[in-house]
Amino acid sequence: MNKKTIKDIDVQGRHVLVRVDFNVPLKDGMVADDTRIRAVLPTLNYLLEQGAALILCSHLGRPQGEIVPELRMDPVAQRLEELLGRPVNKLDDCVGPQVKAAAQALQPGQVILLENTRFHPGEKANDPAFARQLASLAQVYVNDAFGSAHRAHASTEGVAHYLPAVAGFLMEKELEFLGRATVDPEHPYVAILGGAKISDKIDVIDNLLQQCDRLLIGGGMANTFFRAMDLEMGDSLVEEDVVPMARSLLEQARSRLVLPVDVVIADAFDNDATSRIVAPNEVSVGWRVLDIGPKTVATFESALGAAKTVVWNGPLGVFEMPSFAQGTFAVARLLANMDAVTIIGGGDSAAAVRQAGLVGQMTHVSTGGGASLDFLEGKTLPGVAVLADR
Ligand code: ADP
Ligand code: MG
Repeated sequence: MNKKTIKDIDVQGRHVLVRVDFNVPLKDGMVADDTRIRAVLPTLNYLLEQGAALILCSHLGRPQGEIVPELRMDPVAQRLEELLGRPVNKLDDCVGPQVKAAAQALQPGQVILLENTRFHPGEKANDPAFARQLASLAQVYVNDAFGSAHRAHASTEGVAHYLPAVAGFLMEKELEFLGRATVDPEHPYVAILGGAKISDKIDVIDNLLQQCDRLLIGGGMANTFFRAMDLEMGDSLVEEDVVPMARSLLEQARSRLVLPVDVVIADAFDNDATSRIVAPNEVSVGWRVLDIGPKTVATFESALGAAKTVVWNGPLGVFEMPSFAQGTFAVARLLANMDAVTIIGGGDSAAAVRQAGLVGQMTHVSTGGGASLDFLEGKTLPGVAVLADR
């Protein structure tokens, strides 16, 4: 990690603006899942112990630059207060004279939560004037919102041009582990890719293939590879327009690609559909591939072998339906039992590992869906690039 963190600076008696990811699911005006709030507690507690005054900001949902009452941060403030065990003063805006006055009056050990940054169009537009207003509230900027770091918005990127800017602990952990998987990983290095579409992941495939010893492919994207091998895929999800791309990948990297040797097919896209396990060349019209089969899990197990680094993105079947979640869960269990660095990226993949109850047994399950994918593509995240180098 070549970025400065909160450990590298002195925050004693200073006003610190912390960009967090409090974009949490709400239900009946309450926080339905507080995972993202808990995830930044180490950063917040550390800064408070160091004698900082905290001004927190985040977006919540998609208010399109307008005030949407249901997307106010009040329920978040309430939950944060419980988790921090100290009062959180939630303000009704994130910039303006009243906010400025409240920030100026803030004492070390006290916490302000600003209103949803996306109530202002300047947030997504990364408007310098809006970013400057945010910056004027504090003397230091901390970014602990990895999940938003792939967006160049005012609170994730713009503001960092006007203040000393460093990473929080959650950001540090994400960069550390995702970095370990992408920059000089320990070999054997095996990548597993699934999910619905190849077209979403072309750059991920390209980037992983530059480093990995093997690339295991499942999920909907395997179908397009099978089509490129001229197999009948029935009613399976196939992306006809990327078949030529799949064919050239097969030509370039066939010896490193591991495709399913059996698949679970169903006569409808339905949890209760009739299903069968067949070889990939036995898919007939009227049927669709919805999961990898047990022989594929065994093949993946031997391909994973003595891997020292494993990166996994994309469920291997339609795991939202219990009948077609077995392949994904079985591979999650394989990884959980490996003596290797295991890194999970992607929103649905993280959800699948969570559902399997195996988060604690992976080296790292990224909290950033889109951001972790951009990282696996080898892109520089704008919210990271702008932080101070060590
Ligand atoms: P991530 O969010 O982890 O990057 P994706 O969004 O790329 O993953 O893919 C997740 C989706 O892929 C899931 O909704 C899952 O149902 C779907 N999927 C996996 N296998 C198949 C398949 N064989 N056919 C259709 N959809 C699939
Ligand atoms: Mg997804």
